[in-house]
Amino acid sequence: MSTIGFIGLGNMGGPMAINLVKAGHKVHGFDLSDAAMAAHEAEGGEKAASVADLAAAADVIVTMLPAGKHVRQIYEGEGGILDNAKPGTLMIDSSTIDVDSARAVSAAAEARGMKMVDAPVSGGVAGAAGGTLTFMVGGSAEAFEAAKTYLDIMGKTIVHAGDAGTGQAAKICNNMILGISMIAVSEAFVLAEKLGLDKQKLFDISSTASGQCWSLTSYCPVPGPLPSSPANRDYQPGFAAAMMLKDLKLAQEAANSAGAATPLGAEAAALYSLFCNTGGEAQDFSGIVKFLRGTS
Ligand code: NAD
Repeated sequence: MSTIGFIGLGNMGGPMAINLVKAGHKVHGFDLSDAAMAAHEAEGGEKAASVADLAAAADVIVTMLPAGKHVRQIYEGEGGILDNAKPGTLMIDSSTIDVDSARAVSAAAEARGMKMVDAPVSGGVAGAAGGTLTFMVGGSAEAFEAAKTYLDIMGKTIVHAGDAGTGQAAKICNNMILGISMIAVSEAFVLAEKLGLDKQKLFDISSTASGQCWSLTSYCPVPGPLPSSPANRDYQPGFAAAMMLKDLKLAQEAANSAGAATPLGAEAAALYSLFCNTGGEAQDFSGIVKFLRGTS
């Protein structure tokens, strides 16, 4: 049994922390929200009075925070994790953040003799609750092996992507593919409607032809062909458009910083930004089809 500090007990972090409690670990939770702290305690977790207290007590620290600025502040800020954790502490940041921040925090942790991985997830709230998340992990082989013991409790698929920052790189590259391909599939359905081609026929043909992709066959953006997709539930998420926009913006930041040409990624970010600004942000990201049709 380990003593684990868990910071960020929100929609994702809350259930992830509880899975660690259920596996028999002592989990000291910390969140700015009283409601999140109360929910953690009600499920058998313990409350930490501050980040500093949590860090001093923990063998392992997991963070699940909104963005890079929160992660940098919690790790590197005054009274933060790095000033208070014991040497040798294992740190796992599962937030989705920019690659540069992930690399900077990891370097600062290693400089103080700690092990750290960036381990963003896919699988959403259902995956967090069910312990079936996919973790994309960046860090040394030694840090990965140490982290895997805990990631196995919270997830089903754990992949070592490479050195520090490559977990975040994998997450944003994958989601850039997803955002672009969802727009491509949606445009095809809108064009098919205008051309009098039945949506089921397009699905049947393209799902077994060269247009086949996950956005079509596992997450079809129009109702009917695939009963499990959010299109059949009036685009209730699923994966909210605001989250997709966040990841597409991170991909653009990384592309600018690394000097990579990603013109379709830039266009996808612009289209999701328009969709979110016109009322789509809380809808599933496949609702972009309504925006492209002019009916959102
Ligand atoms: P959330 O807003 O529900 O939770 C974030 C929590 O962090 C909140 O409870 C907030 O109070 C807490 N917090 C913020 N600043 C803090 C601080 N300084 N100290 C302590 N607590 C602080 O967000 P979420 O949906 O749980 O997402 C967390 C991360 O996971 C994000 O980076 C997100 O992009 C990523 N993610 C989310 C999903 C999803 O489906 N929700 C899927 C994959 C990845």
